[in-house]
Amino acid sequence: MPNVKLLAAKLTREYFDVLTAYNGQQALDLVKTESPDIVLLDVMMPGMDGFEVCQRIRSDPETMHIPVVMVTALSDISDRVRGLEAGADDFLTKPVNDIALFARVRSLVRLKMMMDEWRLRESTSGHFGMLINGVSMLSESTEKARVLVLEDSPLDLDKITETLKRDGADVFSAANCAASLARALAEEFDLVIVSLTLLNEDGLRLCSQLRSHERTRQVPILLMIDEGDLQRVAKGLELGANDYVIKPIDRNELQARFRTQVRRKRYQDRLRANYEQSLSLALTDSLTGVFNRRYVSAHLPRLLDRAADSNKPVSILMFDIDHFKLVNDTYGHDIGDEVLREVAVRSARNLRNFDLVARLGGEEFVVIMPDTDGEAALQVAERLRQRIGDTRFEITAPVKEITVTVSVGVAVGGRVGDTVDTLIKRADEALYEAKRSGRNRVIADKRDIPLSVLQSLQQPGT
Ligand code: GH3
Ligand code: MG
Ligand code: MG
Repeated sequence: MPNVKLLAAKLTREYFDVLTAYNGQQALDLVKTESPDIVLLDVMMPGMDGFEVCQRIRSDPETMHIPVVMVTALSDISDRVRGLEAGADDFLTKPVNDIALFARVRSLVRLKMMMDEWRLRESTSGHFGMLINGVSMLSESTEKARVLVLEDSPLDLDKITETLKRDGADVFSAANCAASLARALAEEFDLVIVSLTLLNEDGLRLCSQLRSHERTRQVPILLMIDEGDLQRVAKGLELGANDYVIKPIDRNELQARFRTQVRRKRYQDRLRANYEQSLSLALTDSLTGVFNRRYVSAHLPRLLDRAADSNKPVSILMFDIDHFKLVNDTYGHDIGDEVLREVAVRSARNLRNFDLVARLGGEEFVVIMPDTDGEAALQVAERLRQRIGDTRFEITAPVKEITVTVSVGVAVGGRVGDTVDTLIKRADEALYEAKRSGRNRVIADKRDIPLSVLQSLQQPGT
């Protein structure tokens, strides 16, 4: 009990908001209602012990991502390992060393914030499935984990290699910081183990280099240190290392910490991949790969708001393939699909990289151009019309080639009061006018563009 108060006081002094609980059930209730960023858990408690509390936190989908640190007076290594196996992220022994405590708490909180971000994105993109289905971090496999080790003591290197191989890991070693970095940049690793007892160089350099490269920024780092070198551990954790093992290496502890890091990494990778996949499924058109209508509805209002604020125009082109029904009827639906894909490719290729193209449905597309006035928009529209209509489409044999043309409507938005609906409606009306007056041509909404510009730019198509 005095320990809890002491720990709470230390953390409060470092500007953490601290909640305290005095038994296991109380802790579980608080974790559930308050969703803290990190849990410090005493092993010895009346009633439910720390291991059980940890296990329960880990098995509840709502709380399983919250980092847990076990605090114990026991230096018994098997106790630590039991805690790590129960899903704890770290162990602190009493009396708690301040540097290690703060560095560790900060590094775990940082990690937690990243996980929260992914979870949030997951839930907004509507794919809560894997979290709710209880795919927890603990069920991630460590099989075939790729581990890079920088350690110049042959004895320790052997021990690390042998221990991790028992867990099915592939272990690679590098001779120095430079070689390790080169390898980590060239290949994918699940964990990098860095010794801080190297004879000829400082492993902390590698930590800092790994964190400064985009490619290796997320790779977990495990430090190997000598007892009594806690200052450098704190430095390493500050640089972004994730965990440490004190020499002489205890196999069980190494194994448990290895597993925690690899599982976290794989869980995080899975969240990211899941998110990216659901995002691309939700916002792009599967036939052509360009954005879809949903993306336009989400993105265009934001562009219009920004344009109104900054007093800059946003232009849109609405275009539709001419007599597309005839293409389908003459050559079949598959050829029609090929034409749609090629129209998307040609459109995307002829835009600046901050413009975007979306397929609204059927054979109707829209191009959205931020910071673009009517005159510029008309030029883009005319170029697009030519790039599609002037060069024949190469199509699968026996058809080989067809001529495809489009009609384009142009509208400019960005004034206060412009909404997505009014803008699209104006472009749509201009498009209709282009169809009505003969197709294969560009028509602009007259309100937006000076007559002189219209006359100089608008040439009816052939
Ligand atoms: P207009 O020049 O007036 O635009 O005539 P159109 O024939 O292009 O227009 P209409 O709207 O009459 O026909 C559009 C056709 O597009 C009808 C529909 O079968 C076809 N279509 C819509 N979606 C797809 C698709 O995903 N693939 C294919 N191959 N055809 C599609
Ligand atoms: Mg059409
Ligand atoms: Mg149409």
